[in-house]
Amino acid sequence: MSAIDDLPPLGEVIRTHGLVAKKALGQNFLLDLNLTARIARQAGDLSQCDVLEVGPGPGGLTRGLLAEGARRVLAVEKDSRAMAPLAEIAAAYPGRLEVINADALTLDTLAHLTPPIRVVANLPYNIGTELLVRWLTPGDWPPFWQSLTLMFQKEVAQRIVAKPGSKAYGRLAILAQWRCDAKVMMELPPEAFTPPPKVRSAVVHLTALPAPRFEADAGVLQNLTATAFQQRRKMLRASLKGLHPDIGGVLTSVGIDPTSRAEQVDLEHFCALARALA
Ligand code: SAM
Repeated sequence: MSAIDDLPPLGEVIRTHGLVAKKALGQNFLLDLNLTARIARQAGDLSQCDVLEVGPGPGGLTRGLLAEGARRVLAVEKDSRAMAPLAEIAAAYPGRLEVINADALTLDTLAHLTPPIRVVANLPYNIGTELLVRWLTPGDWPPFWQSLTLMFQKEVAQRIVAKPGSKAYGRLAILAQWRCDAKVMMELPPEAFTPPPKVRSAVVHLTALPAPRFEADAGVLQNLTATAFQQRRKMLRASLKGLHPDIGGVLTSVGIDPTSRAEQVDLEHFCALARALA
């Protein structure tokens, strides 16, 4: 029997290491290794890639990534209680798993990764959106990653892939779809996790495009969409009036009706408006 086959079931790992889930760390664990392998497969071919995993916890998804052939996994986990079970996995896959006990919000992960890089994670719900926005808004494009395969609450997943005219459409949809292809790959019920969260979850796969879909300055577009969607029920000529003395004229010049609301404006027109305001 190989060392991989010797790894204990995840339920046992949690009991042995006293890994009682902590709400403050957004801990909802996946214990079904068939499911974690399925999630790992949504990320595509990992054999030539380094994978960044944020929040491996007891290592269910980590095992899935390694079993599916990831060249190397860098797993960043804040909870020191998870270090012993993760060390067991590292021993079963010599040279392929590096674990760092750190806060993913402050660690310079790039220093530990070799391109090409894919990010795969069952993210803690409390920092998931913040990490996604950081990954979507680097200084330069293309970013350090080729793809992001991320588990979110279903409501956040819907916001990422939302189209104009829907309630979910907003800043996150624009930031994601401007420079990525974004797709919901699978949905999971609360019972898939231990402990079960209150809501359904979904895996989103984002692939970085080599260049933005439409030309625009990233900073201007971010500021514009943040302002426009902050007061999403207002007409744009009112919500954006602080951005230009003749905002009505600017909106009309790029083909946007000044009385329309942010959620009615598609990506192409937001980019045209960003260019006009730059
Ligand atoms: N990947 C595991 C799984 O699928 O079973 C655990 C997922 S759980 C939803 C989120 C994990 O992220 C937890 O293990 C938690 O301790 C960890 N975590 C929370 N905040 C973190 C942070 N700031 N940096 C790194 N890890 C964090």
